[in-house]
Amino acid sequence: MVVEGCRGSSQVPSAPNAWSLRPRVSGWASRVHNGAMTDTTVHSAPYARLAQFVTTASDRPMRDIVSPLDGQVLGRVPVCEPEDVAAAVARARKAQATWAATPIQRRCAVANRFRGLVLHHCDDLLDLVHAENGKSRLNAFEELMDAALTAAYYAQNAPRLLASHTRVGAIPVLTGAQERYRPKGLVGIISPWNYPLTLAVSDAIPALLAGNAVVLKPDSQTPLTALAALELMRRAGFPADVMQIVAGSGSALGDPIIDAADYVMFTGSTATGRSVAARCAQRLIGCSAELGGKNPMLVLADANVAKTAEGAVQACFSTTGQLCVSIERVYVHRSLYVPFCTAFAERTKRLVLGTGSGWGVDLGPLIGEGQLDKVRAHVEDAVAKGATVLAGGRARPDLGPLFYEPTVLTGVTDDMALARQETFGPVVAVYPVGSDTEAVAAANDTEYGLNASVWSTSLRHARLVARQLHAGTVNINEGYAAAWASHGAPMGGVGISGLGRRHGREGIVKYTEPQTIATQHALLLGPPPGVPREAYAAFMRTAGGLLHRPPFSLPAEILTRARDLI
Ligand code: NAD
Repeated sequence: MVVEGCRGSSQVPSAPNAWSLRPRVSGWASRVHNGAMTDTTVHSAPYARLAQFVTTASDRPMRDIVSPLDGQVLGRVPVCEPEDVAAAVARARKAQATWAATPIQRRCAVANRFRGLVLHHCDDLLDLVHAENGKSRLNAFEELMDAALTAAYYAQNAPRLLASHTRVGAIPVLTGAQERYRPKGLVGIISPWNYPLTLAVSDAIPALLAGNAVVLKPDSQTPLTALAALELMRRAGFPADVMQIVAGSGSALGDPIIDAADYVMFTGSTATGRSVAARCAQRLIGCSAELGGKNPMLVLADANVAKTAEGAVQACFSTTGQLCVSIERVYVHRSLYVPFCTAFAERTKRLVLGTGSGWGVDLGPLIGEGQLDKVRAHVEDAVAKGATVLAGGRARPDLGPLFYEPTVLTGVTDDMALARQETFGPVVAVYPVGSDTEAVAAANDTEYGLNASVWSTSLRHARLVARQLHAGTVNINEGYAAAWASHGAPMGGVGISGLGRRHGREGIVKYTEPQTIATQHALLLGPPPGVPREAYAAFMRTAGGLLHRPPFSLPAEILTRARDLI
């Protein structure tokens, strides 16, 4: 079906009955703390069995998890209370010591098996992510690959990243210093709905490999994917209690998690991130906060228009624009502005919207009414104040109650809400700029600083511009995926886009307490017996000036290492 602008696909999503991890019905209900559930529930809610993986202290009322595609009840999960967080924390803490004592190679082997299971159960997981979040199969596949590749990266690199190091001591040779990384203990993870698979597990894997236990609270709209991942993690060999999931709202469970954790990993909005960080600060525990963005794309004068327009479509509309690193502002050199706008709008209009779980759909619905209201309000406000709609610009109730067309706007001015606020939906504003300097200034004119994208046929030119951008990641000739999928390199935001980093060394060392163990050999530090303090101070002043400068520093390090080997 083609409807003016964007194509629609009304294919009914395939039934998720093929979920091969589903056990036989008999016996499952007894593991769920709710006597009210019946076998009928299992059949009408295809993922109902996953409720057994939620930790509860006693019976709880159940809540429906509803698909944004068509309102189908996918499963029901217990509505956890703070006592359930306490139960999860107690179990996780009890399991942590044994897990931390397990050799790291064995922990990594488990993570690697998890990677294999994710890939093996790819189709089942894609069906679930699609049904629970509504995103297209291709976008679900991207996050599945991200989860698998993050697990692979840390399974391969954690032993190296967490290895102890010998450091030059206070007095080279006489003082030996070793730096080692101890697990924090219990890591609390609070994750959002937009990437329900990878944002639930990809921060948990490095936390676990560093020897921690984890209590995870997924968003209340998408707990089933996290529960399915937990089941796979246990099948891979993670000890049953070392990772726990509680289900419920952030307002009810957020504080109890923060109050019990030794470190918190939060992904979500800047507003919530601020309150999470403030509570962590009260307890003097660390936190990492991956927050929102108003991400710019810069199309330089020497960019290839066709390739850039194609890239912009992916960069702006993947996961229906509900992506933290998604592009919401495009600055185009004036010489390319008209051809770029034409090409971008044309490609946007060709995108296929639909509920189908097949590979042909480009965009699914928004996650819920709140998100749809925000998108609609941003576009209506912009249009009322004079913006021009080049593509999209309206909801599509004919496809489903939560559909909104991918929308390209021009003529956006600073008095419009979407000029500075994150829309977190399929809406982008395109602006003409006269020079690189103007583009960089406009791109940096935001409190956010998560992701940016630069397009040019000259890598030298693009890198020169990229280095001037205030953003945690900058992608050249790509929207967001090149930096995000470079799992060995840190990912995160500056400004109000966040604190800390995921991926790479930073993404695992943050879950540890670095500890220094220093050993003093032969002489105590301080003046030796019988040596006048003044003479000692004069000697040390000279020695201190020399020892940490080449060529003395290198032999000192070699001697320190050699002494440690003896
Ligand atoms: P949100 O902050 O409302 O919710 C995120 C998580 O926080 C959910 O699990 C929620 O239950 C929990 N939560 C809510 N209130 C809480 C509280 N008071 N204490 C503790 N936890 C609480 O975020 P959202 O609006 O649902 O998600 C979209 C936002 O997340 C966007 O701004 C987006 O840019 C951001 N995001 C950022 C990244 C990133 O990596 N930087 C990734 C995905 C989403």
